[in-house]
Amino acid sequence: MQPFQYIRAEDEARAIAAGATRNAQFIAGGTNVVDLLRLEVMRPYTVVDITGLPLDFVRAEGKGLAIGALARNSEVAYHPLVVQRFPVLAEALLAGASPQLRNMATIGGNLLQRTRCAYFRDGVSPCNKRAPGSGCSAREGFTRMHALLGTSPHCIAAYPSDMACALVALDAIVHTKGPKGARALPVTELHTLPGDHPEIETVLAPGELITHIELPPTAFASRSRYVKVRDRASFAFALASAAVALELRDGTIRDARIALGGVTTKPWRAREAEKLLVGHAPGTAVFRDAADAALVGAQPTADNAFKVELAKRTLVRALQRAGAA
Ligand code: SF4
Repeated sequence: MQPFQYIRAEDEARAIAAGATRNAQFIAGGTNVVDLLRLEVMRPYTVVDITGLPLDFVRAEGKGLAIGALARNSEVAYHPLVVQRFPVLAEALLAGASPQLRNMATIGGNLLQRTRCAYFRDGVSPCNKRAPGSGCSAREGFTRMHALLGTSPHCIAAYPSDMACALVALDAIVHTKGPKGARALPVTELHTLPGDHPEIETVLAPGELITHIELPPTAFASRSRYVKVRDRASFAFALASAAVALELRDGTIRDARIALGGVTTKPWRAREAEKLLVGHAPGTAVFRDAADAALVGAQPTADNAFKVELAKRTLVRALQRAGAA
């Protein structure tokens, strides 16, 4: 195992500088990173502890919200402004992990959590994400939990965050600071598809720190819902999930957001499906049309083919709940 050093960053400048050094890794709640350090799947030279940074806020910004990267999942899930204005986010956070983990896990870490593909985590199987160029064991392996959309010949791992699904449906903006300064990007542009380089998962540069998430005020955020289907009622990743938001006026859908989870390789917005809803009254028939559109292009394996229909039904259920809210 490589030697590593631990640095506790007392301010953002120190965190960014340390994070930009070769093979450095930020750590906060540690609910995913510590697992991967123990498994020796992650082998950073420097671990940069950012828990001392003042990024644990949740504050109103007009009718929108700013959520610091170090705010805990449980704190955000029960925050009155989140529950009132952005219910899909509260529901998605409470659908994730366990109460103990939600008390520790941070919003920034949730967004950057790594796949639970068993071949990635076992530390020995060929895996292009862990050891670039070594191959993908899932291709000939057991793939019940793997993705249907956004896959490549080099990786079919599912992206795991429930919360990210809700952030996509809310048009969230990710704010960062790094060696080249501050920037803001839509949450849909933070993660990358596996393509030829599954080991690259985001557009973040070395040392670039997520500082906060911005939830803009929208007409659809208050009518938003998250539905997750999994093997057990708690502490399980999604087989399929959907985060949706609808703006209704005079009984007609004026705007819609649809995000899929559990079946995609990155946070996923189904724009074609959204377009099908606009101008229609909420109803199962049009919801089913949207669900069919959302899964166009799905590339299932023999093990996870059942997830195509499951994902469609999950999306229809989420839309029904949003329509009735
Ligand atoms: Fe690795 Fe991706 Fe293949 Fe899993 S699906 S073994 S993470 S390359």
